[in-house]
Amino acid sequence: MKAVVCRSPGDLVLEDRAEPGAPPPGWARIAVSHVGICGTDYHIFEGKHPFLAYPRIMGHEVSGTVVERGEGVELAIGEPVIINPYLACGKCVACRHGKPNCCVQIEVLGVHRDGAMCDDILVPGQNLYPANGLSLADAAAVEFLAIGAHAVRRSLSAPGQRTMVIGAGPIGLGTALFARIAGLDVSLLDMSSERLGFAESELGFTALDGSKAPAADLVRQASGGEGFDLVFDATGNTQSVQSAFTHVAHGGALVLVSVVKDDIAFSDPEFHKREMTLVGSRNALRPDFDHVAASIRNGAVPLEKLVTHRTTLADTPRDLARWAHEKSGLIKAVIEVG
Ligand SMILES: [Zn+2]
Ligand SMILES: [Zn+2]
Repeated sequence: MKAVVCRSPGDLVLEDRAEPGAPPPGWARIAVSHVGICGTDYHIFEGKHPFLAYPRIMGHEVSGTVVERGEGVELAIGEPVIINPYLACGKCVACRHGKPNCCVQIEVLGVHRDGAMCDDILVPGQNLYPANGLSLADAAAVEFLAIGAHAVRRSLSAPGQRTMVIGAGPIGLGTALFARIAGLDVSLLDMSSERLGFAESELGFTALDGSKAPAADLVRQASGGEGFDLVFDATGNTQSVQSAFTHVAHGGALVLVSVVKDDIAFSDPEFHKREMTLVGSRNALRPDFDHVAASIRNGAVPLEKLVTHRTTLADTPRDLARWAHEKSGLIKAVIEVG
């Protein structure tokens, strides 16, 4: 079969690889249909991902159809599926508490083990969710949106709360969309006027342009000096996360959607006097995948606006390398495999 392999940072090629073979009990073989390209994939390609072992077949935003079942898998042959790419051990403390999204030994397809930028892949049956009428193109978008949906669910938000999402990339936009679906009043803060222009004109969000004024001033004006009840950081930027603490209203919460490599420092008196809630949010759970799929089905997610670029498996080595640095107009790119 064909597979796009990242052999080392900057070296992405189409290779012939052995077929994955018959699925073991509890697993199924999936013919890959669509694969979304994620910030993580660009980081792996550029060698910016910590502790990643090369060579690696990337791809964790996946849809496909069941072509072969191991013992005990009940999905039908030919069933279109959404793939949850977070493989969990089922035994650790997080798994025992129903949180496989933060399994101690989590293995994410396309990151910790080979992913879906190829024709066929083996996946545990419990990680396969029937698409139930969602197109295979739309089904591949569920995972990246589920990250934001999970963060919103983690925030224990009440409708109408003044909310700011920092970072208007795909994860930030997904978070903003699901915050709005939850009834929150959403503003987006970013340093890119282009991204904000898209968020404002195409998606209808209030834009706070950090390239034109200091964030603290924008927040003060937008919140009547009180700060935002809920702040989500989806920037992956240490400086942004640290200043995000100051944008939260008294009684409010800060949700860290993206991860930074550094330690984070904040003023404890400022944190304490606000009685602030600090929430980490990692990956997503089945209810988030289901909520996103239902929201796409009922037309609440304008996917046609978010998917801006398309390619094929054969052209992925060339196109992914280009999109890693040509970000203008790019929100989400998708590989049409099958
Ligand atoms: Zn992703
Ligand atoms: Zn586990």
